Amino acid sequence: MPKFRLVNFNKYGNPRSRIIENDDPNYSPDLSQFGRGAFIEKYIENKEFKFKSSTSDYEYTTKVLGNKFSCNCPGYWRSYSRECKHVKEIKNKL
Ligand SMILES: [Zn+2]
Repeated sequence: MPKFRLVNFNKYGNPRSRIIENDDPNYSPDLSQFGRGAFIEKYIENKEFKFKSSTSDYEYTTKVLGNKFSCNCPGYWRSYSRECKHVKEIKNKL
């Protein structure tokens, strides 16, 4: 089930977040009830994926940290958008 992180701010401006599960991958509740500045984002658990290189014996590691992705393959560093085929593949699966 897709998970979301709802972040809102208490009266001192400190963020509070909680994880919500919802069947709808495009879940978007009415944020006005959570106060000014509240937002919701897709929550992705930190994960690591291994991909075998198609041209060598090397194994690449693609990491998911929050909403950030990184990979240690050459395509990742070549790509201006930092989206190698591994990152794209994982994004499609999430
Ligand atoms: Zn990669």
